[in-house]
Amino acid sequence: MNLSIEIDPGSGFCNGVVRAVRKAESYLSEHDHLYSLGAIVHNTQEIARLAAEGLQIIDNERMAEIRDEVVLVRAHGEPPSTYSLAERNGITIIDCTCPVVLQLQKKIAATYRRIHRNGGTIVIYGKKGHAEVNGLVGHTDGNAVVVENIPEVADIDFSKPVALFSQTTKDTEEYAALTAECRRRSEECGGQFESYDTICKQVAGRHAALAGFAARHDVILFVSGRESSNGNVLYNLCRKHNPRTWWIDDGRIPEGLFHDGESVGICGATSTPRWQLEELYLHLRENIVNKQ
Ligand code: SF4
Repeated sequence: MNLSIEIDPGSGFCNGVVRAVRKAESYLSEHDHLYSLGAIVHNTQEIARLAAEGLQIIDNERMAEIRDEVVLVRAHGEPPSTYSLAERNGITIIDCTCPVVLQLQKKIAATYRRIHRNGGTIVIYGKKGHAEVNGLVGHTDGNAVVVENIPEVADIDFSKPVALFSQTTKDTEEYAALTAECRRRSEECGGQFESYDTICKQVAGRHAALAGFAARHDVILFVSGRESSNGNVLYNLCRKHNPRTWWIDDGRIPEGLFHDGESVGICGATSTPRWQLEELYLHLRENIVNKQ
């Protein structure tokens, strides 16, 4: 079968994930194991690759049990309580919090200190329970309100100061719509409202380019772990611009996807390693293009 296949030049790990993986690899080149608090990246195959080098993923309960070990904090960041626990347990932290997330944590903490004393609320547009969001909430003593959609802002008291922030991987247009709704409600109540566009520029910049990439191919193979927040956003974006978008999370390609002469685009989330996209490219060439 004749297919033209292209890998999206903008796909692959974002800077924050590249940095975390490099630090883990560097440590493991001299030690036999390293604990990572939570999955270093939402990608099963990359986790398996690093596990073979000695990376062990632990949860908060396990972290509370260990002593005098080294633990990697991933790009998503952690709440202050994690650092206190590490200090109590003699744990050395390899801190891979992405600089973009670190800035956001500091901004949220400072804004919280400023508006909380006047009864104000920090609102975070993000996925409830997501590690980055949990870390951000921790910087407000657990008092921030997390919203996933516009209807959820109905319970917020807009007569008091409200400051809105976004998880770094959310969609820019959706955040703009949420901001507009919050501003409208605040004005209605005569409250004070401030909004900070804290979406990662690396993610936001990819949206337009990926939409164009999805639209110019007949079929899109989107490679990502299902639990990746950014993966969900970018997959939906691709589907919007190309209904023949398929989510590939285990390397398996459904039968009968392609017709002779079509073009296929391969892309992925910020948590999808480049090598996985290249493997899929080779798989298509060897098993579909050269065989049929
Ligand atoms: S998506 Fe942006 S903010 Fe999040 S880890 Fe990657 S570079 Fe950092």
